Amino acid sequence: MSREQLVVQRARKSFHTGKTKPLEYRVHQLKSLLRFISDRRRDIADAVKRDLGKSEHGTELFETLGLEGEIKLAIEKLSEWAAPRPVEKNLLTITDEVYVQPEPLGVVLIIGAWNYPWAVTLQPLVGAIAAGNAAVIKPSEVSSHSAKVMEELLPQYLDKDLYPVVTGGVSETQELLKQRFDHIFYTGSSVVGKLVMEAAARHLTPVTLELGGKSPCYIDKNCDITVACRRITWGKFVNCGQTCIAPDYVLCEPSVQSRVVEEINKSIKEFYTDNPKTFEDYGRIINQRHFKRVMSLMEGSTVAVGGDSDESQCYIGPTVLKDVTGESKVMKEEIFGPLLPIITVSGVEEAIQFINEREKPLVVYVFSNDNKLIKRVIAETSSGALLANDCLVHFTVSALPFGGVGNSGMGCYHGRHSFDQLSHLRSCLIKQLKMEGINSMRYPPHTAKKLGWARFFLLKHVNVCRLRRMALLAMFTGLAAFVVFLERTIQFGTNKMEIFM
Ligand code: NAD
Repeated sequence: MSREQLVVQRARKSFHTGKTKPLEYRVHQLKSLLRFISDRRRDIADAVKRDLGKSEHGTELFETLGLEGEIKLAIEKLSEWAAPRPVEKNLLTITDEVYVQPEPLGVVLIIGAWNYPWAVTLQPLVGAIAAGNAAVIKPSEVSSHSAKVMEELLPQYLDKDLYPVVTGGVSETQELLKQRFDHIFYTGSSVVGKLVMEAAARHLTPVTLELGGKSPCYIDKNCDITVACRRITWGKFVNCGQTCIAPDYVLCEPSVQSRVVEEINKSIKEFYTDNPKTFEDYGRIINQRHFKRVMSLMEGSTVAVGGDSDESQCYIGPTVLKDVTGESKVMKEEIFGPLLPIITVSGVEEAIQFINEREKPLVVYVFSNDNKLIKRVIAETSSGALLANDCLVHFTVSALPFGGVGNSGMGCYHGRHSFDQLSHLRSCLIKQLKMEGINSMRYPPHTAKKLGWARFFLLKHVNVCRLRRMALLAMFTGLAAFVVFLERTIQFGTNKMEIFM
């Protein structure tokens, strides 16, 4: 039996003990996860520094802060999320108990990516624990230092059988994918996403695929270009462009292209100094393979800013490419590096057309002062999310479902969405063995009259709240009439009261 098979078997056995059912148990594990982050902050930061050249504060800001927020939210809201959810009834079930009961799915496989090795691996885990599942955690082998720390230290805080960490590369992941899971939560490229889905299909296992793609960014010529470019520079070059929701390319009118280049250049200097290579908040490309891939994407395009690199350090400076076309090499795949191509279009109409001719992205960014233009982009495009006048920050709103559509993924998470994504939302209806008469309309023999009643009971929309309001109103009217009646009785003598009695 392989190590992967054993780990999954142990997790399933442990899940079947029912240990994860009580909410107190889940809260206890979530608190331990929170303790892990605060106790091991330095180990996490050191690992990320070695993997991606990120600064300690940068790691806290982009990796663990959001994670802590998600854990705290889950602890605070768990009893609300896990409670039965009453639903609207039809006339036939008006006296029944009808509700949705979230229940754990079983054993979840979480496959993480390397670009934010802690956030994208442990945030789904928060949902898995909260929803009462066991979870096999597979960090990316590409961010090897983070994977090692996770494997060594996480079991000191969480239940080892229920939440094991499995390290390894493609063959280990493939071995894991042969096992039967109750849900697979994958973060990574669309190419591997297809393989994951194929493997899941063999067991009819549902999947969440958090993928990537090319997120466009349209700049309206009438907006505050200085502020827009500062925010775009931040969103693009953080983590050296290796962010799934980074603006992949800019669309703008030819008349503003040089202004956009100039403003982005200014912001690069403001954030990363004249020499980003030696500046501690500017990271590195994850490895030589990705370094070569990103460098080759520049071929055939005009460098307007940056373009410098150092292979020995996997360093590529913040780079802007101008006069790029849809046919350029850099437009053929997700960049996932610090290159920002600018493509000129005649206006919002052409920008929308350009976006719609391509795969549905994870985010569409639009910068404009014109609310109508923003609403038009929302109405005429499709993507996992739309963010106007900023970059990345929708990720921080736990109430917003985070995920893709089409080629950028399926399913979503964050906050309660993580809980729901990794729960089975079970429909429950509890009837009494009374009122059998009403059921005759569905029992044979089927007649036109019975069908008429069935139509009435099933198709009539009842608004229970309105019904309740009407009942209350009727009660108050009755009460008011009674009070008036009493007053008159007292005023005109008792004989009427006697009639009433
Ligand atoms: P990666 O190479 O780390 O792969 C991700 C995971 O897939 C790893 O755990 C790896 O072991 C596994 N894997 C790789 N090849 C496999 C194979 N042939 N069979 C089975 N498993 C395999 O990460 P990556 O794919 O380079 O990640 C970058 C991509 O992830 C980008 O497209 C990025 O946009 C996307 N991403 C998306 C999100 C999101 O939340 N939507 C977040 C981060 C990254």
